[in-house]
Amino acid sequence: MTTHPSPATTPAGEARAARGSRVLVLNSGSSSVKYQLLDMRDSSRLAVGLVERIGEETSRLKHTPVADGRTRERTGAIPDHDAALKAVAAELARDGFGLDSPELAAIGHRVVHGGKRFTEPTVIDDAVLAEIERLIPVAPLHNPANLTGIRTARALRPDLPQVAVFDTAFHTTMPESAARYAIDVETADAHRIRRYGFHGTSHAYVSRATADLLGRAPEDVNVIVLHLGNGASASAVRGGRCVETSMGLTPLEGLVMGTRSGDMDPAVIFHLMRVGEMSADEIDNLLNKKSGLVGLCGDNDMREIRRRIDEGDERAKLAFDIYIHRLKKYIGAYYAVLGRVDAVAFTAGVGENAAPVREAAVAGLEELGLVVDGELNAVRADRPQLISPEYARVAVAVVPTDEELEIATQTYALVEKSE
Ligand code: AMP
Repeated sequence: MTTHPSPATTPAGEARAARGSRVLVLNSGSSSVKYQLLDMRDSSRLAVGLVERIGEETSRLKHTPVADGRTRERTGAIPDHDAALKAVAAELARDGFGLDSPELAAIGHRVVHGGKRFTEPTVIDDAVLAEIERLIPVAPLHNPANLTGIRTARALRPDLPQVAVFDTAFHTTMPESAARYAIDVETADAHRIRRYGFHGTSHAYVSRATADLLGRAPEDVNVIVLHLGNGASASAVRGGRCVETSMGLTPLEGLVMGTRSGDMDPAVIFHLMRVGEMSADEIDNLLNKKSGLVGLCGDNDMREIRRRIDEGDERAKLAFDIYIHRLKKYIGAYYAVLGRVDAVAFTAGVGENAAPVREAAVAGLEELGLVVDGELNAVRADRPQLISPEYARVAVAVVPTDEELEIATQTYALVEKSE
């Protein structure tokens, strides 16, 4: 057995022990907070949990200390984010992970929209908070909730470094030719209208993990990442840098999603306003909440859709076909953008679990070097794995995403660097 010196026995380890090695990752939504506590010495998880329905009578907190794996659950009104975070802190303290512990090195916050300015994870100060606030008009649903989470956490531990990790940051390397819409430049700039892209921490993590799986450096590899969850986006990553992604000003553009339409002729909106007499808010709601798979067939869960298809349901089949058609168009388009593709990686709820989606998405693309091996594709694994046969020119991979680990890693690296 190899023995490693304990971190505290090396000079670097002493600094680490003094600072602590734990990072709390917070993902604050409008009525929820998801969290994970990680130990960055080995990237292991110490505790995971979720507070839901904040502001309602039926709020629920689910907390699992990883060591014993026993989930504790409590229900009852949690009126706001402040109360939610205090409840989380109390649960963590019960497991010996109190937020006042010197072991806690930093808190990493997921922030959805970082605009053009935030190209990297950023230590939060008042100026950073003000800038995130300035971006609310382009992320009205997400940034206010993220800000609430940050303010609450800062009030609890004002002395602790808090880091914002932006969903948009990985995409800021997109060239102007991909980031700009073909509309009047002055109007676009006046309203900060451009393509920002989202799910960036996932695309960053998965593109790197795919290079790892191939045994190559990220700089040497071109990857198409397909993040297919309830929200879905594709990206083209050349040598570790994002050159194109399918979401735009907001997460509405691109692929068919669980409840979002993805791409459409923008004139549909004027038509609905003029002929359908719908308001902007009604159309916003229609396209974000009642479209995509749910709009097409009434279900947004791919398991349910597959079950219905097996029973001969025509609407479910059409919804699936539209979903796959769009996905295939993006694979083709990003192939052309990259010129050379080394791997296509599937990730997130659908991408990691739905073998029929992966099979259908690359069916007929043998001329592009894309082939899926039926047996490999059928294996459900919780680690990155190849599902293409050895002879295939392009690797097809399933790579479980881990946005929390990516946020924790980026947060910890920044805190270490700024010491
Ligand atoms: P995410 O947003 O990444 O959590 O993905 C959630 C979505 O993944 C769900 O809405 C389902 O459509 C899909 N999903 C989760 N588990 C499975 C599964 N075992 N088979 C097919 N789809 C799944």
